[in-house]
Amino acid sequence: MVSNYDIILKQKNLTDLEYKQIYNNLIKNDSIYIPFDKNLIDKSIRRIKYLSKTYYFLFIRCPRKFELMRIKGIYNTQEMYSLGGLYGRNAHFGFDKVWDNINFKRLIKFNTTEKIRNYIYIKCTDLISKLEKNLKLYKFLFLNYANYETFRITHIFNRIGAEKSKKYIIPEYRELKIENHIRNEVGVIDVIHRLLDDSGAIGDYKTGKPKYYELEWNPNREQLDPNKINYDKDNIKTELSFYYNLINSFSDVYKVINIDGINILKDLEFLNIKKGFIVYIKDWYNTFKYINIKETINSKLDNVKSDIIDGINKGYFPMKFRSDCFDYCEYAHICVKDKEFTDNFKQIHPFYLEKLKNLEKFI
Ligand code: SF4
Repeated sequence: MVSNYDIILKQKNLTDLEYKQIYNNLIKNDSIYIPFDKNLIDKSIRRIKYLSKTYYFLFIRCPRKFELMRIKGIYNTQEMYSLGGLYGRNAHFGFDKVWDNINFKRLIKFNTTEKIRNYIYIKCTDLISKLEKNLKLYKFLFLNYANYETFRITHIFNRIGAEKSKKYIIPEYRELKIENHIRNEVGVIDVIHRLLDDSGAIGDYKTGKPKYYELEWNPNREQLDPNKINYDKDNIKTELSFYYNLINSFSDVYKVINIDGINILKDLEFLNIKKGFIVYIKDWYNTFKYINIKETINSKLDNVKSDIIDGINKGYFPMKFRSDCFDYCEYAHICVKDKEFTDNFKQIHPFYLEKLKNLEKFI
């Protein structure tokens, strides 16, 4: 019998039997009624065929959550519209669009870092509606973004002079959407900088609480608070290697261009990527650092991918019982219908039993 994953890779011209197989093995659910509908199955197949970094990390967090979201397509609108998510999306929009408003000839005339910073900050806040201009988080994020860019820009000015700096200062790519048909992966790269040796650096902006630090990377721009350090070098490399592998291929890698609401695939030109960085905008001075990613650094996500394919073929994604299942997972109301879930928490602690009862009241 052909495997579930082979059918997903085939994607088009599926037989009735293949649709049935995917429905029975992956979509049908005992806890929630999902009708047999070829359009829904096609959508699920499209969602699983191309995996993204976010979904790898979701799978690491909880395979069952991955299954509910990515395969069964059960989304929770509350999470999608959470304030943190909204701020993050809007801030990313600002970091991208501000470059359409920056006038390079004006920028290079500013002779102090303060003037450069103020100019970038004003261009960022110009993107926000009058009503929201005074929201503290936007002010804070954009001010930090302006500081980070000012640091980057003045470093380039100092090294090669303002006149020659345009191609290094203006990001080479922003919000670059990639579809890799060899790895079956998709992703959006926030930014690609051209470095002074004319190689490229992939960048990822983070707007949440800083998680990754490498003490020796701190360029002494400010004293580090040791309590804030959460050393996690492996995850930095894992994230950057995902982007590196996503675009580092000689064929079958496409950039996705949206024209009048329709996505068009175009060949991606060769990018000589040698470095990468993950910058936490809230704490850019401790986190902005180009690191080498010449090699494929980490196979962690490849292992996750094998586990996902295994789950797809077996039609089974285990639950990962976590202490925050009740408080932070929007799928607890589905999991609570599963005996394995209730049994697990009943055994653990009376505290969870209370939470379980509260949840069961609503179903
Ligand atoms: S409630 Fe817990 S087990 Fe269920 S999907 Fe969420 S994290 Fe996974």
